[in-house]
Amino acid sequence: MTLAIEPTATRLDAPVANFADLGVSSAIATTLAQRGIDVPTAVQISTIPDALAGRDVCGKAPTGSGKTVAFGVPLATRIGRGRPGRPRGLVLVPTRELATQVAAELAPLLAVQRRRLATFFGGVGFGPQIRALRDAVDVAVACPGRLEDLRRSGHLALDGVDLVVVDEADRLADMGFLPALRRILDATAESRQTLLFSATLDGAVDAIVRRYQTDPVRHEVAATVDDSSRMSHRFTAVASDERVAACADVLAGSPASIVFVRTRHGADRLVKQLGRMGIESAAIHGDRSQPQRQRALESFRTGSVRALVATDVAARGIHVDGVSCVVHFDMPAEATDYVHRSGRTARAGASGTVVSLVTEDQHATVHQFIRILGLDAELDGITTSTTGRSAGARDSARGKRTDSPRSSGTAGQHANARSSQATHERKRTRARFPDGAGGTGSRRGGRTRLGDGRHGAARSARSR
Ligand code: ADP
Ligand code: MG
Repeated sequence: MTLAIEPTATRLDAPVANFADLGVSSAIATTLAQRGIDVPTAVQISTIPDALAGRDVCGKAPTGSGKTVAFGVPLATRIGRGRPGRPRGLVLVPTRELATQVAAELAPLLAVQRRRLATFFGGVGFGPQIRALRDAVDVAVACPGRLEDLRRSGHLALDGVDLVVVDEADRLADMGFLPALRRILDATAESRQTLLFSATLDGAVDAIVRRYQTDPVRHEVAATVDDSSRMSHRFTAVASDERVAACADVLAGSPASIVFVRTRHGADRLVKQLGRMGIESAAIHGDRSQPQRQRALESFRTGSVRALVATDVAARGIHVDGVSCVVHFDMPAEATDYVHRSGRTARAGASGTVVSLVTEDQHATVHQFIRILGLDAELDGITTSTTGRSAGARDSARGKRTDSPRSSGTAGQHANARSSQATHERKRTRARFPDGAGGTGSRRGGRTRLGDGRHGAARSARSR
């Protein structure tokens, strides 16, 4: 088993305070600032200057570290104008949801440069996509399957593409898109610039890097589970027949949660059971149509349901901000899955709680996860595995290594405060959050701010 977590870090001699210091134009920096993005994250600091200079970049960074802006800025800055049926920029992503989200994040950056963008993915009609191509798009944000369909039908040619972004390369590989990815890259201009981002850079992804990138600059940003942000992990032992009630309790205390279940059927069943307990939720899984999935996501984003109940595959690529809690209703099979699922909360500096509902037969697995992942947690306990975000955010914003959080001053204080809470919490059997598992609901759908870790610290100090 490989873990997407391996502390490495980029060091910079001079602290970077803002995007202008990275060579970002003032028009783009202003657009970012309007969306609350004014202090660059570690992956942005380490990749933007090289990408702006035209180099191939291969970036490894954890979920929620701000990779979209890291490639969006160079893309918006460098991309030329497309012609009908011939885009100049191509962003490849594994899922439709991710395509939509990446496009939303890129749109303002491209607009300020007067560049047009369109998304291309399956499950929706061809008409609007073909019309967009006919009118000419400069940047295509696409899933490989539909992109290939459009190529085969002659509506799209890739030979004009001179900037390619491969986002979430590891997931593209996991989802079986490698052959398509190779065909697509082979069809683009040979002189292109290629930016590739992934949570892991081994195996298949490494082969893509070696075959399709030219002298790439590799940037790896500290990516321990501990570093991801203010994520606290809680493992609660429950009897099988108490699991739904325990889950309802957790959801009642959290404004926006994602609940992971093993099967599609299990997802539908849980939504019904929660409904009977007065908790509104929506299921998102592979048996649901694209419009149903979009509707579920939308009702979650707008807060009309407080939880999304998802299977692993369906959850890939869902990036919703302000998720205050992740619940492992069914424990994942592998520790890597635990990392991926848990990464849906505590994104970009926000805090988040991860709750695992552990039935008797799973105790051994859980102890193993805790050990493998180096979590500072026990069954039935609550602890924080993370640096205090105030310290962590500042360090990571400067690209510094923050891999021994518990030894730093702030982190030590956090750990102490949390462990006395842990002792107290261990006496309880049901999952409840003294700190409300967030209080981040108002931020849902909005921007999470990385620069203001102090807010997070203040909030959690208050709630303790
Ligand atoms: P990743 O692709 O690395 O998982 P995203 O690019 O989706 O992460 O970013 C996660 C969230 O963080 C997004 O809402 C994004 O707008 C926000 N974000 C990105 N960069 C910054 C920044 N420098 N400051 C504050 N928020 C940021
Ligand atoms: Mg991303």
